[in-house]
Amino acid sequence: MSQIVGFPRIGENRELKRALESFWAGKISQNELEKVAKDLRAKHWAQQKELDYVCVNDFSFYDNVLDLAYALGAKPARFQHLSGLEGYFAMARGHKDGLACEMTKWFNTNYHFVVPELSSNDIYKVDASAIINQYKEAKALGYKPKISLIGIFTFVALSKITQGEFAEVFNAIKAAYFTLLDELARLDSSLLIEFSEPIFTRGVDERFYDLIKPTYDAIADKGIKAVVSTFFEHSNEASEILLESKIYGLGLDFIYGEKNKQILARLAKSDKVLLAGVIDGRNIWIADLESKLALLEEIATHIPKERIVISSSCSLLHTPYSKSAESKMDSEILSWLSFGLDKIEELLTLDTLFRAPNDSARSKLESNQALIATRKSSSKIHDSALKARLDSSIKTSRDEDFATRIKAQRSALAYPNLATTTIGSFPQTQEIRALRLGYKKGAISKEQYDEGIKAYIKDCIAFQEEIGLDVLVHGEPERNDMVEYFGEQMKGFVFSQNAWVQSYGSRCVKPPIIYGDVSRPKAMTIEWITYAQSLTKKLVKGMLTGPVTILNWSFVRDDVPRALVCKQIALGIADEIDDLQKAGIKIIQVDEAAFKEGYPLRAENIAEYERWALECFKIATANAESSTQIHTHMCYSEFNDIIRTIQALDADVISIETARSGNKLLKVFKEVGYKHEIGPGVYDIHSPRVPSVSELEAQIRALLEVLPKEQLWINPDCGLKTRKWEEVKPSLENLVKATKNVLGSLQ
Ligand code: GLN
Ligand code: ZN
Repeated sequence: MSQIVGFPRIGENRELKRALESFWAGKISQNELEKVAKDLRAKHWAQQKELDYVCVNDFSFYDNVLDLAYALGAKPARFQHLSGLEGYFAMARGHKDGLACEMTKWFNTNYHFVVPELSSNDIYKVDASAIINQYKEAKALGYKPKISLIGIFTFVALSKITQGEFAEVFNAIKAAYFTLLDELARLDSSLLIEFSEPIFTRGVDERFYDLIKPTYDAIADKGIKAVVSTFFEHSNEASEILLESKIYGLGLDFIYGEKNKQILARLAKSDKVLLAGVIDGRNIWIADLESKLALLEEIATHIPKERIVISSSCSLLHTPYSKSAESKMDSEILSWLSFGLDKIEELLTLDTLFRAPNDSARSKLESNQALIATRKSSSKIHDSALKARLDSSIKTSRDEDFATRIKAQRSALAYPNLATTTIGSFPQTQEIRALRLGYKKGAISKEQYDEGIKAYIKDCIAFQEEIGLDVLVHGEPERNDMVEYFGEQMKGFVFSQNAWVQSYGSRCVKPPIIYGDVSRPKAMTIEWITYAQSLTKKLVKGMLTGPVTILNWSFVRDDVPRALVCKQIALGIADEIDDLQKAGIKIIQVDEAAFKEGYPLRAENIAEYERWALECFKIATANAESSTQIHTHMCYSEFNDIIRTIQALDADVISIETARSGNKLLKVFKEVGYKHEIGPGVYDIHSPRVPSVSELEAQIRALLEVLPKEQLWINPDCGLKTRKWEEVKPSLENLVKATKNVLGSLQ
């Protein structure tokens, strides 16, 4: 028996994305959108037909947490009067009657879900029709369906309770959830539902402790075959409770939750089935079938084979659809990759090998072992010079401490208090995108391209000088994406043509693939930064992406520890800093937008991540001389739990996203005695709104209530690439004016 937790829904060629965007633009009708969705489901089920069942309700028009909220009737008051897709998309994307619900990352993946808002004032009205219809669709096509549903504990834990006590809200949601299940239970006498409860990988929340068993007992009593699945880590605390309940089975991740093995002996004593997640659902490397078989045999020493269902470790939502469109990638590297459809193949082959090996499966195993062997020994992966460098002593911190450095910087760079700057990118215009694309496709010559980029940089510098910013940037016109730009220039990375994964709604990303040792053959940014610097006497800030962010936004090779890959990237960035300094650049920003995204789910693993992530950032920046100023930027506003690590990064200046959270965050910096300089974003770049001078002044004065002017920089809260020039120009003008006004009043 074999199964997957879920299938990627966006479509082989992102059909769902296109249909959604056409629908939102009013170009296609709801019927046409539904037709695309129905066809996609049918196509995706056909791909799963040899598995023991196909997944129903893993499909979504936007997000499956939102689907559940909507099915339960958990709509925020501002959208109560809306129904159908209008209400649904209002929650996801906003509406004239109210702001969208928040969106946040789904555990430690780059998928984002819509955060439900629950209140004790809500009156839930359940609508199971979407799930029921999909179930019937699958049945009509002759498939054996399994329903995928977000578990109630995960749902409630991820929701925002806007009013009322937890217990009250939980009981109301539970009643609605049970009504939904009652309607579903009518579909089949022993309906299989896989409840996704990844929240249990964080341990068991005290509030849930006594609720888990009775809730799942009650679900089983409805005649539902309930499987509770967790992924991305082990969930032993919850498994212990669930094994005492009446559920049908447990789904466990043996890739990212090896410690799940500890529960096997107890699971064996129960009568439950095990969905054994042994095929990696969120990375893209071919499985080593022999070692997977060994793992399954190990599991089978505890649990009879008939009770083991071989599964993906999580939904394949996090992997691309298929390799069929990859015509440009090095064919050897491509042969080491396994996308969604390949993973289904792997599951089927494993299942045969595990239970009743035949010749065809044996020959698949043989070719798989050959690929695994070539991947291990390939010269494409191993770089001996780099290995020697890693084995030698590496500089892991700057020569002098911050107090000494900042004196050197203040005297060498002579920037004022409340120095004004930006985070790096300026608006990405149609022309600049067309220029990059044309160059990539070969339609535009190198000379024309360089000319276009230089013209943009020149305008950027002229504008910044004109309005009087203190530290300038070149504007990043040459970068399509802050990770891709560096990945494309480093060895060890490949880029796919079609390996899209859903990030949120219709948004997909195509993460770089790190397949081998990473190194930087030559300078990556010097040409543009030095050109920008040649145009002005003011300081131009060099702009790099940090190693941890490059790692966290890529598909990373699985044959060496992530920490090692990160260290290799860090050495490349360190070399770039060397070159920037030699070229006369005095301020260098190393962006770590995704530093926080790599945090482990379980508290006990955090220290280890912080240790190496911190070390890598420090290696990347260690070459900076004392008088070279290192900036970093992080795009979030929750620093409470990581503030000590941020401090230990030892960046001379950090810019952060505070515009939307007021001074709360800054106080955290003050409380821990943060001495380094800080640029708390003074306005929110995520909105087109132009902040007024007086508003910015008030914001700056508020900052000064917490920290002294000597410690503060004034800047927007993130890069400006998604904004329009018409918004950016007046906003930055006002920012400079407001800063001058405040400075004037301080003297
Ligand atoms: N330097 C980058 C920019 O300005 C930083 C982007 C980010 O933080 N996400 O675009
Ligand atoms: Zn940012």
